[in-house]
Amino acid sequence: MKFATKAVHAGARPDPATGALTTPLYQTSTYVQESPGVNKGYAYARGQNPTREALEDGISLLENGKNGLCFASGVAAIDAILRLLKPGDEIVTTTDLYAGSYRLFTEIFVPAGIKFRFVSFEDPEKLKEIISDTTKLVWLETPTNPMMNIIDIAGIAKTAKSHETLVAVDNTFATPFLQRPLDLGADIVMHSATKYLGGHSDLIMGAVVVNDDTLYQKLKFIQNTCGAVPGPNDCFLTHRGIKTLHLRMERNCWNAMKIARFLSRHSRVDQVNYPGLESHSGHELAKKQMSAFGAVLSFDLKDDRTETAIEIMRKMQCFTLAESLGGVESLVGHPATMSHGAMPREERLAIGIKDSLIRLSVGVEDADDLIYDLEQALD
Ligand SMILES: *Cc1c(COP(=O)(O)O)cnc(C)c1O
Repeated sequence: MKFATKAVHAGARPDPATGALTTPLYQTSTYVQESPGVNKGYAYARGQNPTREALEDGISLLENGKNGLCFASGVAAIDAILRLLKPGDEIVTTTDLYAGSYRLFTEIFVPAGIKFRFVSFEDPEKLKEIISDTTKLVWLETPTNPMMNIIDIAGIAKTAKSHETLVAVDNTFATPFLQRPLDLGADIVMHSATKYLGGHSDLIMGAVVVNDDTLYQKLKFIQNTCGAVPGPNDCFLTHRGIKTLHLRMERNCWNAMKIARFLSRHSRVDQVNYPGLESHSGHELAKKQMSAFGAVLSFDLKDDRTETAIEIMRKMQCFTLAESLGGVESLVGHPATMSHGAMPREERLAIGIKDSLIRLSVGVEDADDLIYDLEQALD
């Protein structure tokens, strides 16, 4: 079955009691038992809820996985995955990481005895030099935020396999419409479903998809034991979101490509970071492992000053100033003072985040209006 068909029908289960086409919102904490221990497969809603189950099945189908699990947020999903490890185990990950993941790793899991190595994955051969028997997990995201660097998932997975190291990919930016890490050899896919899967900037949600039964059972145990589960209402909305994922992503990516081309021709713009541009270092790899180039991009200015960037962002009317991405509406952010504000300036500059860097999450509005907005703000 092709992606669009799957997206519309993934996880759908008409209500057995009424035939309601759409999986109902089972707003309940518990389930009636016929006699002690005898139930219809649901005992208590932390363990499972049919609305959540339909969403978990849906996301897992889109990722070509066997089992899905949903969490109260993207970071709760990451937290659950890292709980697979024990003190002394090592995680190899990248310097170019979502700021919330970095904070979770260094502030919660380092004190708990997990070791981390931060490297640049732009050359997948790097992993060969540093991977060891204590490396239990490789964690990566691609495209990265906000530089949109592309990491070779298949290359990393090949090296990791030879050491029996798990590979987890944060697939939030690409979504399964553009990239399916399990098909490329990864063991675990993670999402902040808050972003494109939900797609309407109205909820917080996390997801994990795996192919291996043992791994699934361990994660399911963690999900129920630690309890960071989403409520049924957010599951219902996310499930509604994924039905139009392919439509939204097509328009998001098309708009982003047009905007990237416009910006790369503008006299005030210095560099545009978008893997769809031939000039981007990850362009060839992106063409290979993704079906389009995503809808987040960043650019910096020839006048590389925070004040200049802020002045331009203030003039924008179609792009709303806010954290987050992946919704139907276009958003703009300033990494140096927002997402990466806590990072020392030298470290930030070393990964390419200049003072004037502006990040766009391109929505599904009319591309002409978005370009006109950028044009008047830049002029
Ligand atoms: C937003 C985000 C997260 C965290 O997800 P929440 O739903 O906000 O907890 C993790 N990874 C990436 C790439 C993100 O953009």
